Amino acid sequence: MLNIHQVKEEVCDIGRRIYNRGFAAANDGNISFRIDENRVVCTPTGICKGFMKPEDLCIVDMSGNQIAGTRKRTSEILLHVTIMKARPEVKSVVHCHPPHATAFGIAREAIPQCLMPEVDINMGDVPIASYALPGGQGFADVIMPYIMKSDIIVQANHGTVSVGPTIERAYWLAEMLDAYCRICLIARDLGKVEYFTRDEAEDLLTLKQKWGFKDPRADLENCELCANDIFRDSWKETGVAHRAFQPPTFKRNDDNTGQKASVNSKCTCAGCTANAAAQNQHQSTSPQSNEERELIIKTITDRIVKALAG
Ligand SMILES: [Zn+2]
Repeated sequence: MLNIHQVKEEVCDIGRRIYNRGFAAANDGNISFRIDENRVVCTPTGICKGFMKPEDLCIVDMSGNQIAGTRKRTSEILLHVTIMKARPEVKSVVHCHPPHATAFGIAREAIPQCLMPEVDINMGDVPIASYALPGGQGFADVIMPYIMKSDIIVQANHGTVSVGPTIERAYWLAEMLDAYCRICLIARDLGKVEYFTRDEAEDLLTLKQKWGFKDPRADLENCELCANDIFRDSWKETGVAHRAFQPPTFKRNDDNTGQKASVNSKCTCAGCTANAAAQNQHQSTSPQSNEERELIIKTITDRIVKALAG
């Protein structure tokens, strides 16, 4: 039997960690935990996450209506319950503003991959969702497509949303992403960022699967390993790009001689779609286009007719 008081203590504890790490200034951020089918413990609005007591917390139903607590529930609870309904395995949602991860959301810079093994194993390609006004259904609508595929997302010009089966796990993803973004920025300031080689990246993906972690790159075998292929389709809309960090562009099954893999027509990821389009473009402008082929045939036929006549 779940001890609700213990859950509330844990929410307060994670609140202190979020505040002490500088992930939520003043009254920023919100935390929730689903205690049963129709009840969610959540933080109230207008409270510093570093100084909450269990009696400050609220309980809402799965539509976000408050059913217990004297303080008013966070206005962002609609996002939390929308996520919990769509992903029943998610018990906790944590939203905060970790500065280094949020900076990538403001710069709309794709979070680099293939730089640290723990990060690639625990998170993979971290998407950046478009900006939306906080609090309403539109805010949830912008985030949902990404949170269905990733346990942590960065919101453009805002912060992070992370989810998990426990409050600690949801928080821990935000902590790990922020530490990673900080390290990436420091390394870039030193003047050189060295990415994994193709083999190193491939080995890590294999290990990740062996340990039971899912990674969409494993199913898209012809996609680029380190170049944020999974969410690249969304970049036009979100304005995300590789500007400060330029990752290597090798594919899973490029061979060791440096030979590029052929385009996988079945793969619909951004990288393969772009490559297929480039190949089609090349074909239509190559000497093998219909017009040119006809011209070559006509020239050869003319020569044969001339030779026979001669
Ligand atoms: Zn926020």
